[in-house]
Amino acid sequence: MTAKIAILPGDGIGPEIVAEAVKVIGCLCEHYGFQVELEEAQIGGAAVDTSGEPLPEATLRLARQADAILLGAVGGPKWEILERRRRPEQGLLAIRSALGLFGNLRPAILYAELAGASTLRPEIVAGLDILIVRELTGGIYFGEPRGVRTLGTGEREAYNTLVYRESEIARIARLAFEIAGKRDGRLCSVDKANVLESSGLWREVVTRLAPEYPQVELSHLYVDNAAMQLVRAPKQFDVIVTGNLFGDILSDCAAMLTGSIGMLPSAALDERGKGMYEPVHGSAPDIAGRDMANPLATILSLAMMLRYSLNQAKLAERVESAVRRVLAEGYRTADIHTVGTRRVGTREMGDAITSALRAAAA
Ligand code: NAD
Repeated sequence: MTAKIAILPGDGIGPEIVAEAVKVIGCLCEHYGFQVELEEAQIGGAAVDTSGEPLPEATLRLARQADAILLGAVGGPKWEILERRRRPEQGLLAIRSALGLFGNLRPAILYAELAGASTLRPEIVAGLDILIVRELTGGIYFGEPRGVRTLGTGEREAYNTLVYRESEIARIARLAFEIAGKRDGRLCSVDKANVLESSGLWREVVTRLAPEYPQVELSHLYVDNAAMQLVRAPKQFDVIVTGNLFGDILSDCAAMLTGSIGMLPSAALDERGKGMYEPVHGSAPDIAGRDMANPLATILSLAMMLRYSLNQAKLAERVESAVRRVLAEGYRTADIHTVGTRRVGTREMGDAITSALRAAAA
């Protein structure tokens, strides 16, 4: 089957890092029989410049028709003066919501070779491999009513609503159970059920589903304890599932356990497993156009796409082992460079990955 991938490079370093992932796709086609159709479109500031909109109709149409989407990053100082609805970041929010991408997967993996990059001691983090599954389209970020009102006293009051329906909780919980079943079989659900009604319902629904997944061992933690455990002993976790707000905070915390933003991929999935894949980092305008950006987060996002949307787990493993091999050989972009390793640019890092893939195919 020929997979259809929409390529949305975006702004800043986006086009540079996406070009390296496209090189990897080319190598998979040439040496591993992968069949794919790629089509590129604009999003973010680049789209504002040509069409006036951060998410043009044509880009959304392409994204809807594709089996998966690979995105670079959006944004930059040039567009910060625009009114809110025309800012690049709005393109990202709009595409996530238009495609119903409710399930955000954020792995935090620390390759043994990069253990020194973490602020935690190597023995606490070396070999870390956890996955945070965050609900992305509900919870307090979207709940109504919301607003700022002026009280009779003249004082202003701001309010938001944390609301979750049973079906929303069940949908994200099922995704997390299924993924945990394909990993180490341990799922920790994080909530604040001792204080919040929405968390009480969250815990009840997740617990009710557990018997359907006998191969997965379910546990629960309150979010304050989960934050502590993440920095105390992160390797105790396999998969964590949580709501939008808690997931936002915990996934950034887990990401930083690895110490290197240029290494972190992510996925956002819809109900049918279609997804948008992108590095966690932004458009890094400070290094754009200088062949300095680390393309590995984008290449690892491609690996996630192969696994979660294109049913190509073996190819995903090939790409991930090429990344491990290249790191073991000492290749490092500036962000992960240390004394004694070989400093390379964006393009040379991409070439090293395709060479490793070619060597493994031979
Ligand atoms: P950023 O992630 O772009 O950069 C933070 C720091 O990390 C910078 O020093 C940058 O040089 C470095 N960095 C990031 N990615 C790197 C890579 N692949 N290799 C090497 N170094 C890398 O965050 P920021 O500076 O806060 O934001 C810059 C722009 O990106 C803003 O316009 C922001 O709105 C946007 N942004 C976009 C996304 C997205 O597209 N998903 C996410 C975050 C920020």
